[in-house]
Amino acid sequence: MRLRNVKGSRETIAASEYVVLEEQISEMKGRWHERFGNNHPIHIEIGMGKGRFIMDMARLHPEINYIGVEKFSSVLVRALEKQAEHKLPNLCFIRMDAELIEDAFEKGEIDYIYLNFSDPWPKDRHAKRRLTSDRFLARYTNIMSDEAGITFKTDNRPLFDFSVESAKEAGWQIDNITYDLHNSPYAEGNVMTEYEQRFSEQGNPICRMVYRRRN
Ligand code: SAM
Repeated sequence: MRLRNVKGSRETIAASEYVVLEEQISEMKGRWHERFGNNHPIHIEIGMGKGRFIMDMARLHPEINYIGVEKFSSVLVRALEKQAEHKLPNLCFIRMDAELIEDAFEKGEIDYIYLNFSDPWPKDRHAKRRLTSDRFLARYTNIMSDEAGITFKTDNRPLFDFSVESAKEAGWQIDNITYDLHNSPYAEGNVMTEYEQRFSEQGNPICRMVYRRRN
């Protein structure tokens, strides 16, 4: 994603009631249900960008709490502008690097993870930074409930193939997989992300897999 420094974004984020900053996450660990004021399941999107997907999901599913995790203020601020308008009570955001995800959530606290169009980190020496690498799967295991799963979408075939292999090697179970989501039976009910719209308009097929730990 091309990042521009958005003037005032840090201040806007610091002042928002919908954001937890990286320096505040340890206070929230194990207490997210208190923040939402209910016991509904918690779903997160890691690397949510400008937040179109997670906002649409939060609107469609008021019975689920959503948390968008994003590393960069300049991107997160765009999601906040939308949330300031819609004020969805079941949606908030964390500005943090997902490498620290275990500092934000207690084991079992997260009921579902969405990874949408994650950065590909194409160089082999950066493979560990991919959000679908074995290192990240181990982190997710430490925050997920027993029944939790992951949905991963991308148009980047090398990243997708790497992710399928990582999942298999880590002993995860792939419930379903498609290499052309929009022309598959799974297209119905699919909620598009910003990147998904852009890349599918360019003619790129979208890959998607749904997977979970074997218990
Ligand atoms: N999910 C959105 C979509 O599909 O439209 C945005 C995709 S964009 C290519 C990837 C996003 O992930 C960027 O906003 C980037 O800043 C964020 N990101 C990448 N690595 C991250 C990390 N380690 N922790 C949190 N966010 C990350």
